[in-house]
Amino acid sequence: MSQSNRNLPVVLISGAASGIGLASACQAARTGYQVVGGYYPGDPHDPEQAARQIAAQGAAALMLPLDVSDTPSVERFAATAMERFGRIDAAVANAGILRHAPLATLTDQQWNEMLGVDLAGVVRLFRAAAGQMQAGGSLIAISSIAGAVYGWEEHVHYAAAKAGIIGVCRSLAVELAARQIRCNAVVPGLIETPQSLDPVNSLGPAGLALAAAQVPLGRIGKADDVGQLVTFLLGEQSTYITGQAIVIDGGLTVRMPR
Ligand code: NAD
Repeated sequence: MSQSNRNLPVVLISGAASGIGLASACQAARTGYQVVGGYYPGDPHDPEQAARQIAAQGAAALMLPLDVSDTPSVERFAATAMERFGRIDAAVANAGILRHAPLATLTDQQWNEMLGVDLAGVVRLFRAAAGQMQAGGSLIAISSIAGAVYGWEEHVHYAAAKAGIIGVCRSLAVELAARQIRCNAVVPGLIETPQSLDPVNSLGPAGLALAAAQVPLGRIGKADDVGQLVTFLLGEQSTYITGQAIVIDGGLTVRMPR
């Protein structure tokens, strides 16, 4: 880890070793945030490579193991950030899983696992981070147009979790406003990442290529597109925005069906 600096803001980001989390971490580092990123040890990521990539943007970066479905893991993550950096200014609840599951075969275990990561995982991170935040803090969760805007067949548990994030963010926006802590949801459309490139649980490369034709801006989104929005919501550019769900989808959800 490069040297921490008590005068610079600190952002916690879950799922920071890949996709939207890594892009958000790099963009935040570029705008002066020190990054404490969580990587999930069960996934084949290289946290040292991710830390180098983030630190190359000019700010201190520390990658720590994190399982958002496990409260002690999340508490340890936030406590280590405080020990090493002395402050927490923002948290991005980005970690998520996506599983194909038709209703007829959806088990309680699949439902609980999905909600435990994609919805309760958001609350766990926000609870641990908000407890350490001062006025001016920002909480950001990554929802999805699947659930927040559209239904998605055979993904009922994912859509439920992503819709639930909107309620979490609206409620925390109100609850934490007295402490001047903001809370917003980012609602991505189709973004090219390891998750969407998975042909079993998501669209896969061929499905994404086909879907690009439906997007008014004519392309699938990049993780960096979402990272820019996340970074905007972190701090001084967005001080009066709270409780919002901001769609970033190249116009996909506002197009008239044809
Ligand atoms: P991704 O698979 O690269 O990122 C998900 C990250 O979460 C991974 O780094 C993974 O290791 C981590 N993770 C999984 N389980 C975890 C756990 N229990 N604890 C901690 N971390 C865990 O894919 P992505 O597209 O970058 O996903 C980031 C977020 O964006 C997710 O919440 C996803 O649902 C959401 N999203 C993605 C799209 C898209 O099109 N890619 C669209 C809408 C929303």
